[in-house]
Amino acid sequence: MGSVGAKEVPVLLTPDGRRIDGRTLDELRPIRIEAGALHQADGSAFVEWGANKVMAAVYGPREVHPRHLQQNNKAVIQCRYNMAAFSVDERKRPGLDRRSQEISKVIAEAFESVVFAEEYPRTSIDIYIEVLQANAGTRCAGLVAASVALADAGIPMVDLLPAVAVGKVGGAIALDLRKEEDNYGEADLPMALVPQSGRLVLLQMEGHMTEEELARSLDLGVQGCRTIYEKMKAALRERYAVGPPAGGAA
Ligand code: ADP
Repeated sequence: MGSVGAKEVPVLLTPDGRRIDGRTLDELRPIRIEAGALHQADGSAFVEWGANKVMAAVYGPREVHPRHLQQNNKAVIQCRYNMAAFSVDERKRPGLDRRSQEISKVIAEAFESVVFAEEYPRTSIDIYIEVLQANAGTRCAGLVAASVALADAGIPMVDLLPAVAVGKVGGAIALDLRKEEDNYGEADLPMALVPQSGRLVLLQMEGHMTEEELARSLDLGVQGCRTIYEKMKAALRERYAVGPPAGGAA
């Protein structure tokens, strides 16, 4: 343990390049994606990503509430990201704070780039993201869950939207930060990629890094997104795989 002021900070990077949980710099946390986890929603997905647990539900296209948001030429995409009061160690004040509102907005905007909203004028596509357990990277886990949920709901899209955060920890660029790395690291850079076009539709940064480090971060993040993309497609294939006929095999 090193120390900064009165606070004990963990060693984020060992001399041989291992991270606090033993991962290498370009290693993702384990990810499990379940498409269609809820029965009530039109589409849903549950994502366990490291210690994050995130549920997404999609409704629509359906009537717009509140009515004044209705658009005559396309569907409106509304997103509500919420972190449960029990999702973090320190009890979080329940309800939508500024952070949740910001995350809801950037996620909705990311989906506006991929959903064929003009196919459903005067309707709403509603995305609900509930973070049940948080350990950094929840906006990315929320995007991944919501993207699979949208596909599960049959909403036409250009592509799925994998997302991951890259950051700088112990002076090195690292993929997929966990909580301690996010808290004590030097930078955090969440991004979401449209894999087919290679376009980024969400990119945020907290902290600081050099131009060269930023370029490396983007490369690493794009690679990470491509790996996650394969897992998203596999989850959807699993959900819609044609199983043996009811009644069991002969
Ligand atoms: P992201 O979850 O997308 O990385 P942030 O960088 O804002 O978003 O948050 C990093 C982590 O900090 C969260 O995943 C969560 O573990 C923790 N955190 C965020 N907000 C709170 C809060 N109000 N109370 C306690 N912990 C929080």
